[in-house]
Order: sequence, then C-alpha cells, then structure tokens
Amino acid sequence: MQIQYYGELKLFIDGEWIGADGRVTEDVINPATGEPIAALPHATAEDLDRAVAAASRAFRTWRTTTAYDRAKIIRKAADILRERAAELGRRMTLDQGKPLSESIPEIHISADILDWTADEGRRTYGRVIPSRLPGARWFVTREPVGPVAGFTPWNFPGVIPARKISAALATGCTMVIKPSEETPSTVLEIARALQDAGLPNGVLNVVHGKPAEVSEHLIASDGIRKITFTGSTNVGKQLAVLAAQAGVKRATMELGGHAPVLIFEDADIDHAIRVMVHAKYRNAGQVCISPTRFYVHDSVHDKFVDGFAKAAAALKVGDGLDPENQMGPLANNRRVPAMERMVADAVSRGARIATGGERGSNRGYFFQPTVLADVPQDAIIMNEEPFGPVAVTARFSTFEEAIEQANRLPYGLASYAFTQSAKTATMVSDAIEAGMVGINNNAISMTETPFGGVKQSGYGSEGGSEGMEAYLVTKFTSQS
Ligand code: NAD
Repeated sequence: MQIQYYGELKLFIDGEWIGADGRVTEDVINPATGEPIAALPHATAEDLDRAVAAASRAFRTWRTTTAYDRAKIIRKAADILRERAAELGRRMTLDQGKPLSESIPEIHISADILDWTADEGRRTYGRVIPSRLPGARWFVTREPVGPVAGFTPWNFPGVIPARKISAALATGCTMVIKPSEETPSTVLEIARALQDAGLPNGVLNVVHGKPAEVSEHLIASDGIRKITFTGSTNVGKQLAVLAAQAGVKRATMELGGHAPVLIFEDADIDHAIRVMVHAKYRNAGQVCISPTRFYVHDSVHDKFVDGFAKAAAALKVGDGLDPENQMGPLANNRRVPAMERMVADAVSRGARIATGGERGSNRGYFFQPTVLADVPQDAIIMNEEPFGPVAVTARFSTFEEAIEQANRLPYGLASYAFTQSAKTATMVSDAIEAGMVGINNNAISMTETPFGGVKQSGYGSEGGSEGMEAYLVTKFTSQS
C-alpha cells in the first residue's frame, strides 16, 4: 500500500485544535482504494457544548465588528486557500475521490466564494421608510441571526461549506459546522486559513461525530439560532422537525434533486452532448444538480443517445490522483450497490444499456459512466435520485408532454433544456418547476447567483445576494 500524506484530523473549537486524546475515532477511507488514510476524532457531548458556548461568546464581539473588517479577514483567508490549493486539492481527492482536475479548482472556487461573499456582507443594506408620525424616523436594519449550526455532505467538501461559512461570517454570525465524516479535510483547512487570516477564536468551530447525534445535540442547544443543511430530502425533513421543536429555529435546506433535461427537436445536438456529458459525469454524477432524466424529442432521440453514450464511454476513469483520469471512484461504498440496484431494476423493466452499467474495478468504489435508454417511468431510477454516473433517457413528442414529465417528481432543484428557439426557451423557463434552469448551458451554480430548490428540494437560497438573507433578521425601528 502506498501511504499518501493526508494530515492529522482534529476538532477545531474556540480556536484550539483538538486531537483524539482518548476520544472515539473513525477511519477516513480513500475511495479509490478502499483503504483507510486517517483517523477522525469524534466530538464528545462536552466538546459540542464547548463549541456552542464558544460560538455564542464570539457572536457578541463578531456581530459588532464592522462588515468592512470582517470582509478583510475572510478575503485574506481566500488568498491563503489559493496559495495552498494544490495540496488541499490533493487531500480532497484522497478522501472524496474526485480527480485533481476537479478538486484543485474546487479549492479556487471556494476561495472565490469567500471573496465575493465577504464583500456582499458590506452591502446588506437597510431602508428608510417615510414616516406617518411627524418628526419620527422609520428605518429597517438587518442584523445577524446568531450562532448557526451547519451540516455539509461529502460530494463538494469545499464549495458547500465555503458558501455556508462565508455568508454566516460575512453577515456577523458565528458557526459550528459538522462536515461529512467521510470527507473532513477541506473544512478543517478552510478553518485553518481563516484562523491564519486572523479570525477571532470561537467565530468558526468544526466538530465531527455520528451525524444524527451531533445534529440532534447542536440543534437542541439554546445557543444555536439557525440551522443550515445540505444533503438528502429524508435527512432534511428530520432536521427541519428538530429545528421547529427546538424553538422554531430558522433553517435553510438544500436537499435532493432529480434534474430533467429537455432536448427539443431543434436543439444543437452536438453542443448538448458536449455540455451534458461534462455536467453528468463531473464528480461521478454525485451532484444534486446533476442532469439525470434526459427527455429527448422522438425525432432526435437515437442520435442523441448514440453520441452521448460514445462520449461517456470515452471518459478515462481511475484514481483521481492520476492527472490523466477524468472521472474518479464514487465517494463511498454505499453508492456502488445503489447504482447496481437501479441499473438492474431499469433493465428488468425494459431499458437498454447504451454504455456502462457495471462496476469499474474490484479495487475501490468505481462504477462505469452509464447511459440507459428508453427507461420506463416506473423504473426506480426515474423516481429516486441516482446520485451517481448514470444518465437515463425517455422520448417525448410535444412540449406539454415534456414539461409534464419534467415536473412529475416532488423535487425541483436544477433543470436544463436545449433548443434554438427563443420562444421555446422562454416557455420552458416559465413552465418548469425548479429553482434553477440552464438553457443551452449548465452554468447554474456560481457564487453571485442564487442556488436553491422548490418543492421537496428544500427552501432558502445560497449564493448571490439572496444567500445573505438566510443569515439576517429584519428589525424595524420607529424613532421619535
Ligand atoms: P444520507 O442521507 O444518510 O446522508 C447525506 C448527508 O447528510 C451526509 O453528508 C451525512 O453525513 C449527512 N447526514 C445524514 N444524517 C444526518 C443527520 N441526522 N444529521 C446531520 N447530517 C446528517 O445518505 P448518503 O448515503 O450519505 O447519501 C445518499 C443520498 O443523499 C444521495 O443519494 C443524495 O440523494 C443525498 N445527498 C445529497 C447531497 C446534496 O448535495 N444535496 C449531498 C450528499 C448526499
């Protein structure tokens, strides 16, 4: 076994780095090999209480630190992350699996998120309302909601926490964050960059442990005023209930999706294939905005499937540390059997495997880039988010039929359409039930644009000026 340096994993509480020191630990696995690379200490109940107490104490001074000074620290941390991007990207590849061509850019994107959001914190304007009372001033101010508990998943260990941390800190909130235990290195390094940039102790705290135990404990803590979660709809529902029971705490929920892609008769098929193959197999399909259900006009269906399957089959799959590889393993050993189950079910109902369909290798958690054609509506994969490298197609004949299929599921996160008609593009944008619509492109997740879902894909936005709202409360003052 080749030992790759990965770094020692710790808890980060009140500015202090805390190692295992007798605590329960959990192995972090390299998904390309299935071998452990580090031991992650779990927080005890006392550690969690200390983290909340630190976030509450730090909130008193951080909220009164000027937005200008908060932004300076966050922007300095962004520069530090950029300097360390090559090494942090490599560690992300080791615990998450994505190729270096994705992990290193993810560190740069995380830095960009910190930069933009830090400055947006300087623009959380209030408003003055003409008063009905003679001589009185009526004004509306925006204040930080308070200490936040954040829970982030394993698919984007940099970008998702960067969004939550930067918006919380830029608006004057403090945070206790629990990254995924499977991919903890990047959040710890974001915390280290912030500490090195001068972040006061307690403003950001990082804890690890059994997800349900940590989230129950933190959400119930009096000091926590807001919850932010990214993950599955099932877990999101549980956390929303806990947040309500713990005191009607505010919550932002970024949950699952099952993105439809409408390929109309007049689409530029080669362009659609190029854009969608990249979007589908990025991060081995473990993306909540991953294009999944391809509804293709009957007249161009076979041409699209042939081209898409050829491009998918040409992708180089292997250990993400090899710069030649374009797609890495799945992030954990739950995803491979999940893919096998969904593919077998679709095939048993009459779907055709256009490419892939099998495990990629006996070592590590690989699955081939897969395209299933003519998948019936009752197949599991047409209804449950695959969260893996599998695209499925079905045919449509009319616009109404395409929209009905696209809107059929209880999710509404990302959606995509390809057409050369401006009229069709506008009709899609109006008719589709989704938080984001990419028409002839997949550029739907940027730091300056709102990201979030409708229906059971959750509520609240991250990114853009909308993303700041989640961390602010509104106060109206009437002053005579
Ligand atoms: P899961 O639902 O158990 O976990 C999803 C994420 O939530 C993980 O990061 C996990 O650590 C966290 N989590 C689980 N239970 C929690 C709890 N009680 N409190 C706080 N956090 C908790 O399942 P999984 O096997 O890790 O992933 C399966 C499905 O989750 C995927 O198929 C996908 O639908 C969804 N998922 C979505 C995203 C996203 O970006 N929206 C990311 C990862 C997973």
